[in-house]
Amino acid sequence: MIKKFNDHSKVFDFIIIGGGATGIGIALEASSRGYSVLLLEKSDFTKSTSSKSTKLVHGGVRYLAQGNVALVREAAVERGLLCANAPHLVKNQSFIIPTQGLFDEIQYTVGLTMYDMLAGKLSLGRSKHISKSKTLKRISTINADKITAGVVYHDGQFDDSRLAINTLQSASEMGAIVLNYCSVKCLTKDANGRVTGVKFTDEESGIDYQAEGMQVVNATGVFADDILRMDNPKAEKTIAPSQGVHLMLDRSFLPGNDAIMIPKTDDGRVLFLVPWHNKVVVGTTDTPIEKEALEPVALEEEIEFILKTASRYLTKQPSRKDVLSVFAGLRPLAASNGDSAKTKEISRSHKIIVSGSGMLTMIGGKWTTYRKMGQDLIDKTEQLNGWRRTPSRTKHLKIHGYKEGVDYNDALYFYGTDKDGILKLSEQADNREVISKKLKVIKAQIVWAIEHEMAHTVEDFLARRTRCQLLDARESIEMAPKVADVMAKELGKNEEWKKNQIEDYLKVTSNYIL
Ligand SMILES: Cc1cc2nc3c(=O)[nH]c(=O)nc-3n(C[C@H](O)[C@H](O)[C@H](O)COP(=O)(O)OP(=O)(O)OC[C@H]3O[C@@H](n4cnc5c(N)ncnc54)[C@H](O)[C@@H]3O)c2cc1C
Repeated sequence: MIKKFNDHSKVFDFIIIGGGATGIGIALEASSRGYSVLLLEKSDFTKSTSSKSTKLVHGGVRYLAQGNVALVREAAVERGLLCANAPHLVKNQSFIIPTQGLFDEIQYTVGLTMYDMLAGKLSLGRSKHISKSKTLKRISTINADKITAGVVYHDGQFDDSRLAINTLQSASEMGAIVLNYCSVKCLTKDANGRVTGVKFTDEESGIDYQAEGMQVVNATGVFADDILRMDNPKAEKTIAPSQGVHLMLDRSFLPGNDAIMIPKTDDGRVLFLVPWHNKVVVGTTDTPIEKEALEPVALEEEIEFILKTASRYLTKQPSRKDVLSVFAGLRPLAASNGDSAKTKEISRSHKIIVSGSGMLTMIGGKWTTYRKMGQDLIDKTEQLNGWRRTPSRTKHLKIHGYKEGVDYNDALYFYGTDKDGILKLSEQADNREVISKKLKVIKAQIVWAIEHEMAHTVEDFLARRTRCQLLDARESIEMAPKVADVMAKELGKNEEWKKNQIEDYLKVTSNYIL
């Protein structure tokens, strides 16, 4: 990619700062319309919030309860499109809401029927009321004393960082240059104060570069204010970060095919328990946070809250020792009035900020709508700059790896069509080596991640090319020396690199262990 960048002598149409869901959605949209694109990510792609989501492709039942019909409709449509465009990564997931009393039963059945209707023909399945005995049959671990019946509805479920990698591959196949470990240090401007490009540093080689772009886009999530202040040191705060924590549990806590949605926790939030890669993700919280960080740390009270709420609904009650991993992410919520106290009330829809310098900043939104966010951003650019209008092509664009009917019990299912390439690699005797029997990872995946998915570090592989760090943090630490060994050989690195990589991985991942 660096070579491609060096060979690119023209001004880019778009320079996108940030390799999370937002930047990646914009890169896909722009490159599919034939624009030249440079995307710069200071760490690894999705290192920040975009690998720490609840893994739902959803309209947002909660937003419907808040009366935000337009937001739910937009997300429900995007959910359907994403299921169709990346079926190897997005699956139809049934959820059961445990109800307590007739009022609950009527309220949720009616509400979720409306939820289906908003999705129109892109609905993933009809919501319905089910009896207590049917609920207990479908969820064997639910506490019978806590329910009178259940309401079933459908949403999408996905693997966030895998979708990011595959979308970047699609964008790059259409010409986009995407660079991880390249940090934007400042903006360049012309005599009229218009942003003309960026200066960035390759964090691995330490080499500084400059790139020129017709349109510079700030897609840095919770870090958006840093870039806005590069443009205007007096820029006002636009982001109100809100932390969300998830715990990973063994599948025995929720053995069936259904997920659970608890609609009213003690503090008015919702809590999900969702089967994911043969484990169960439980979350989330919504805690206003003062300072953004690339690796936010779960607070004790958030962990206790999740364990306590889940325990109330399950016969097998999880405790700290059952937690396989804990991870925290920061929502880049758009601060409407500078008041960060009530983040549940802050709009989840996306916003585009147009700076006087011509830079565009996209904040808010969610993974589910990343394609539409990209479309809106490109439309806005064409309108503001007086460029010729081009039609969006992403609605039915198949994402790299597209494969229908994948078998979710197959350890390599999430690679989609790339699975064949990995199997081919594993035909070479030593690539068949098992790196983790527990998490079903083989050496060929490491080689693949380096050669095709821009994995540079042990963490890239264990946290985002595979999801070992989130699925079982302790097991992933056990795997780290072996992964470092394979990577060092592939990348031609020395013993010191290996030692540093293992140490770095241990340091980061210790926060994922209780
Ligand atoms: C707990 C939680 C659960 C969620 N669950 C869901 C869900 O289930 N479904 C859903 O649809 N959405 C969900 N979301 C929302 C969704 O995850 C976010 O909206 C989305 O990931 C935000 O992406 P982003 O690209 O804006 O930000 P980020 O992912 O934070 O990406 C911004 C990137 O910019 C980079 N960057 C910063 N400064 C620079 C610089 N100077 N140079 C280069 N790069 C830079 C950062 O390193 C970072 O990678 C959830 C969010 C949270 C927090």
